[in-house]
Amino acid sequence: MAHRHFCSVCSPTLFWEQNEFKANGGMSLLRITPSTHSSVSSRLLRLSIFLLLSLPDSKGKAIWTAHLNITFQVGNRIISELGESGVFGNHSPLERVSGAVVLPEGWNQNACNSMTNFSRPQQEDSWLALIERGGCTFTHKINVAAEKGANGVIIYNYPGTGNKVFPMSHQGTGNTVAVMIGNLKGMELLHLIQKGVYVTIVIEVGRMHMPWLSYYVMSLFTFLAPTVAYLFLYCAWRPRAPNSSTRRRRQIKANVKKAIAQLQLRVLKDGDKELDPNEHSCVVCFDTYKPQDAVRILTCKHFFHKACIDPWLLARRTCPMCKCDILKT
Ligand SMILES: [Zn+2]
Ligand SMILES: [Zn+2]
Repeated sequence: MAHRHFCSVCSPTLFWEQNEFKANGGMSLLRITPSTHSSVSSRLLRLSIFLLLSLPDSKGKAIWTAHLNITFQVGNRIISELGESGVFGNHSPLERVSGAVVLPEGWNQNACNSMTNFSRPQQEDSWLALIERGGCTFTHKINVAAEKGANGVIIYNYPGTGNKVFPMSHQGTGNTVAVMIGNLKGMELLHLIQKGVYVTIVIEVGRMHMPWLSYYVMSLFTFLAPTVAYLFLYCAWRPRAPNSSTRRRRQIKANVKKAIAQLQLRVLKDGDKELDPNEHSCVVCFDTYKPQDAVRILTCKHFFHKACIDPWLLARRTCPMCKCDILKT
């Protein structure tokens, strides 16, 4: 007797994927993927739960995963496989249910026709209908199977959706247990049964996830993020009230400007003795004076190019030659 068990350490784990929601008409999807490390996967699970599910149909409801224990016989080997591969429908009772897996008769697997029959084996009392998603509502499919006596309904997702699942909405299906599984798992079961393999499944209630928690966390985050950003920007950019030393510096600067403006200004012309290069040159730029140069004459009688001495005085207040302070004289 061979067993194909998913061990508890590397059991399939739910990944909540935000990107998937909108891709499927705004519905929230879960992806069930086998992973190798429980610590990593449970961290990812928690992280991904935080990442969301703030959607109308799942908001406010807890989501329950379903453990499926699948057993079938190949030759004289019994193969058993346990995995958290399903999710209970929003209106399904959270109950353990088991039985032989039965397909709708005919080529169509969606069980939308109310006359659909199920090829249930004689020896089995309890049976579960395996139905394809699409063609009609979940409620309709589940009721069609329930009317034929199914103890539970397993609906597999559309082709191309891998092992993604989401909690179905199926009001009015009474006490029929309804679980969604991924398309890949569904196709695997479908092919086995179509080949004549007798498959039984035990559906057990798995773990609860609370999308509303992540909804509130997301709401809180949405509210807090701009607030934090605003506070940060406010602290970084708020206009600072000038303190007393800043005010004093500004006052001095204004006084220096006023003092500079009161200093004598002259424009040199041909014949001025200041033009003699052997006698005079500007100590700021070391250049000699030329006719038409504007020169500033300080109270100490030293003179310099206006363009050279004004910025100097503004920065230092003193004559570059004798250090006399223009504010004190
Ligand atoms: Zn100069
Ligand atoms: Zn001087």
